[in-house]
Amino acid sequence: MKLYEQFPVSITNSLSGKKEPFVPLNSPFVGMYSCGPTVYNEVHLGNLRTFTAFDVVYRYLSYIGYVVRYVRNITDAGHLTNDAGEGVDRIEESAKLEQLEPMEIVQKYTTSFHEICRIFNILPPSIEPTATGHIIEQIEMVKKIMANGYAYEVNGSVYFDVRRFMEKYKYGELSGRNIDELQEGTRELDRQDEKKNSIDFAIWKAVSPNHIQRWPSPWGEGIPGWHLECSAMGTKYLGKQFDIHGGGMDLKFPHHECEIAQNVGAFGTSPVRYWMHSNMLTVNGEKMSKSKGNSFLPRELFTGSHPLLNKAYSPMSVRFFMLQSHYSSTLDFSNEALSAAEKGYKKLSNALTTVKKLKFQPLGAEDHDLRSELNRLIDGCYLNMSDDFNTAKTLAILFEMASRINDWNSGKGTAVSEATFNRFKQTYIDFLEQVLGLREEEEHNQEMVDGIIQVLIELRKKARTDKNYALSDKIRDDLKAMGVQLMDGKDGSMSYSIE
Ligand code: AMP
Ligand code: ZN
Repeated sequence: MKLYEQFPVSITNSLSGKKEPFVPLNSPFVGMYSCGPTVYNEVHLGNLRTFTAFDVVYRYLSYIGYVVRYVRNITDAGHLTNDAGEGVDRIEESAKLEQLEPMEIVQKYTTSFHEICRIFNILPPSIEPTATGHIIEQIEMVKKIMANGYAYEVNGSVYFDVRRFMEKYKYGELSGRNIDELQEGTRELDRQDEKKNSIDFAIWKAVSPNHIQRWPSPWGEGIPGWHLECSAMGTKYLGKQFDIHGGGMDLKFPHHECEIAQNVGAFGTSPVRYWMHSNMLTVNGEKMSKSKGNSFLPRELFTGSHPLLNKAYSPMSVRFFMLQSHYSSTLDFSNEALSAAEKGYKKLSNALTTVKKLKFQPLGAEDHDLRSELNRLIDGCYLNMSDDFNTAKTLAILFEMASRINDWNSGKGTAVSEATFNRFKQTYIDFLEQVLGLREEEEHNQEMVDGIIQVLIELRKKARTDKNYALSDKIRDDLKAMGVQLMDGKDGSMSYSIE
């Protein structure tokens, strides 16, 4: 029996609002898509929460035996500042600000995104397609939607005709929006009188010749609408219908709602069976976002350099902090919560180091109560993760397991069979490392290093005062050989830098 049969997964489907048994279209294969970053600046901690949430979904489904094809795109064209498909092009704007080519911006922030994923132990997806690499597919999709009568062209732009679509299909089902109210709300803001209705959205947008990123199309030079890339790439790599689509809650509307409409408009099929939305990382109850000025970057966390931070935190403490809440709840940032997470992570990680070295020590006859207790903990890991990926409850079980491990390590023998002991040990290691992606971190005690160098600096000062230049030079040269550069100030002071 496969693990996914033994511990069947249920998922809260945003489309129904209910927790549903997960039945893949073509088990053991699972097709999963999640919206990736728009590579116009560095990802902040809020973005990382969402990428971590779907990383864990991918990890767990793979761990229990599904063969997952995970597609996470890179948005490198077509994302305007206003999600409704208006405003300034984000990548073009960054290119102007940083005086770079748009594709230099794309390269720079794609590389930085990959680096951050590596640091946070977010696995690479199976396919990472880009919008610019799929312009032809997007144009083909626009043509299909037009041929079916759900889009119209005005001045080189093509708009999705929402009213026309609603004559046959539903629109707004995922986000629960009432379209009439929406239309009332947007009418005043709407300066795009090209559209028949303010609720219509661009699937192809004409741009002027001074826009560097632009492509020829049957409607003239332009860029694809942002929502279109996910429809085109999801369909290309996962089919017209696939199992799971993820993204942050803020993408439900309009991005995902439009994605559904585009697929239905092109192929007559709703693309996704299980929509999953992760909730927001907040700061004092407000969504973390770059535009609100309350966001911070991963590197600011490691150095503790952001004014909101009391000190530096390691990547795995931050990952642990995110996993401590269920993906569907909001998670509020605070120094207290991060400090608590740091302690919690250390406890689990110490037990991980311990358990890897721990040998089975038999202790008399098998204790049946203990055996069922250990089995409860082992099963608990699976049951909680299978229950809509409840990382919070899984961590609680892992803490219980860590206490057992510490008991055994302090010399108490194990009154269960070697097989049970080994299964317990392997489950603890696997759930931490493979499922939750929490790896051991090397202790880097900067304070102690600083202290030791200061002692050497003082000794070197003393040697100089004593005119013992052989010793003072030796201290300088030996430190230099280790990558520590001492700098002599004019006033006799000394400072250092580490290469
Ligand atoms: P973007 O690069 O803006 O398209 O965002 C990338 C991903 O990060 C999307 O799935 C967003 O929903 C998600 N996201 C943005 N802000 C937050 C936040 N404060 N908390 C959690 N996820 C977020
Ligand atoms: Zn998307």
